[in-house]
Amino acid sequence: MDVITITRNIYKDIYKKIKEYDTIVVLRHVSPDPDAIASQIALRDSIKLTFPKKKVYALGASVSRFKKYGLMDKVNYDELKNSLVVALDVPNLFRVDGLEYIEYKEMIKIDHHPFEDKFGEIEYVDPDASSACELLAKVIFNSKLKIDKNIANNLFLGIVSDSDRFLVDSTTKETFKIVYKLIDEVDIDFTSLYPILYERPINEIKFHGYIANNLTITENGLAYMKFDADIFNEYGVDPSTPSNMINDFNNIKDIYSWVFITTDEKNDQYKVNIRSRGPIINEIASKYNGGGHKFASGARPKTMESVDNLIKDLDEACKNYKDNL
Ligand code: AMP
Repeated sequence: MDVITITRNIYKDIYKKIKEYDTIVVLRHVSPDPDAIASQIALRDSIKLTFPKKKVYALGASVSRFKKYGLMDKVNYDELKNSLVVALDVPNLFRVDGLEYIEYKEMIKIDHHPFEDKFGEIEYVDPDASSACELLAKVIFNSKLKIDKNIANNLFLGIVSDSDRFLVDSTTKETFKIVYKLIDEVDIDFTSLYPILYERPINEIKFHGYIANNLTITENGLAYMKFDADIFNEYGVDPSTPSNMINDFNNIKDIYSWVFITTDEKNDQYKVNIRSRGPIINEIASKYNGGGHKFASGARPKTMESVDNLIKDLDEACKNYKDNL
């Protein structure tokens, strides 16, 4: 594994590289979450604010439930020849959404996942950070990149979302320092932002109850649920709903790891969300076309047999963890 050294001037290096280019594309990982989207929109808007003459685009699949963070751009791809790409919140090249269509010249990576592929001329990787938004806020506050209230709102939302409201262990004093600066220096009205993350229709709350009532829980402390299309129709919820609810099932006594399995029909594979509050899960996920953080991972197995093997491996990890408590 390559080791990334964070130089003292990483913030300035990033700023200088951005300054060099007239056309900049900001990307993030496929199947984005609020941290990925918020960091992408925040960086696009900060570059535009700082350098109004540059062409700056946020590209990748649009996700309608994230439109309050800002919208993806439309572009003629010929314009992007020789551009600079900045990829946020993604450690592996193949998961950078939209990159395959762009004839870029250089790339910057800003990420808080455990290191996977080296693909940027400049890489700012800190797996101990709470979120890509925390790292981006540091870049902005330590360089001449500008910030306004919208940009700060997005940075706050990404930090709160990926740290699961400051619950996960990647929340550090650095996280709070950045949040303090967003409130103190940009004067964000942070409590007014929570509905963007947490407001939900009543049928989702009912669906939440369905999950709680029907989870399979093994004697080793693994909880899992396989969802089929009928249940989404019955409750009138989107198939992506389990993914958005996975963090709600934390801190349940005697459950150490929990897993939601849905079908990704478009790509002919299963989408698996995995969380843990003890066993390390990203190494297991990586055996099943997946990866992620130590306690928050995902996988994309091709077959149900593979899904069942993943469940077995996770159950074994729970057993080992429980036996050593
Ligand atoms: P999710 O359960 O989709 O919220 O993902 C949790 C974490 O795992 C995020 O950091 C994702 O970027 C990462 N992740 C999800 N799916 C994959 C995958 N197939 N390969 C690598 N990392 C993944």
